[in-house]
Amino acid sequence: MNTYQPEKHCSDGGFRLMGLPLLFGSLFVAATGLGWLASFIGQWFYLIFLFPLVIAVSLVIVGAKIGQWTHLRNGFIAGIAGLFAGVVSITSMHYFDSVRYFDTPEAKQKFAALPPETRPSTFPRYMDLMATQGVGIGKDGLNLGYVGSWIYWGVEMLLVTGMTFYALIGGTQEPYCCACERWKVYRELGTLRQKGDRAKECLESGDLPGLLKLEPSPTGGDLVLSVGECPVGGGDCPITVKLDAVTVNAKKEVEKKELLEMTYPGEALADLESLFVPVVEVVEPAKPTKKAIDDY
Ligand SMILES: [Zn+2]
Repeated sequence: MNTYQPEKHCSDGGFRLMGLPLLFGSLFVAATGLGWLASFIGQWFYLIFLFPLVIAVSLVIVGAKIGQWTHLRNGFIAGIAGLFAGVVSITSMHYFDSVRYFDTPEAKQKFAALPPETRPSTFPRYMDLMATQGVGIGKDGLNLGYVGSWIYWGVEMLLVTGMTFYALIGGTQEPYCCACERWKVYRELGTLRQKGDRAKECLESGDLPGLLKLEPSPTGGDLVLSVGECPVGGGDCPITVKLDAVTVNAKKEVEKKELLEMTYPGEALADLESLFVPVVEVVEPAKPTKKAIDDY
């Protein structure tokens, strides 16, 4: 069992230029599609916060998948992509609402008498008109008023863009092998016992022998040690070591909280694996007693 000099895991910030049009293009298609769908269903009912939530989750799934395909490890680009997707989805939802609104007989009739230059037929004018009418909440129609409506739309957009922004940045921080250009794959090695911050300190300083005092075992401990390996090079490439604290909450659900991610040289893999190999006790068969031999 050796000691090592690990480094804190951090993304290398790389990306593939060819991947960017694919990322932004897919997000644009997904965002306008979801905006259209929300607007279409919204003709009959609209669930506040739930619709934006579904839009955000769907965009995160699309963005994360494309980000993975295109090897995106750059948090800045991912953040911009997240903001872009969120803004496009909510804006397009309002836009499709406006198209549908101007197409209704009521709207046509309402504006027919007005001189053409004052007819509200553009998207910004539609938003202004809707804010003047005020967004109604619930069946009894609590009216948010002009300013309230704009604040409500703003909060809705913040909710979606906030989620897509943070989630897409999060995806770029996954461990990646730059030499082989592949995402590393995590595998659980075993568990340790939390004794203060010992496990964290040992892993941060590279003191792997210190982990032996923390009851390493294949299962049962309150800390889970995982290793992220390059699917091509395995132990020949640097590995990422992750420590999670495992707790069981009041609902008996297992909750994991990440404590650290460190990059170790590939040679550390064998040492880490050996920690969790169950020790086989050799039990020697009892020697037959003289009486047993005599009885026989
Ligand atoms: Zn590799």
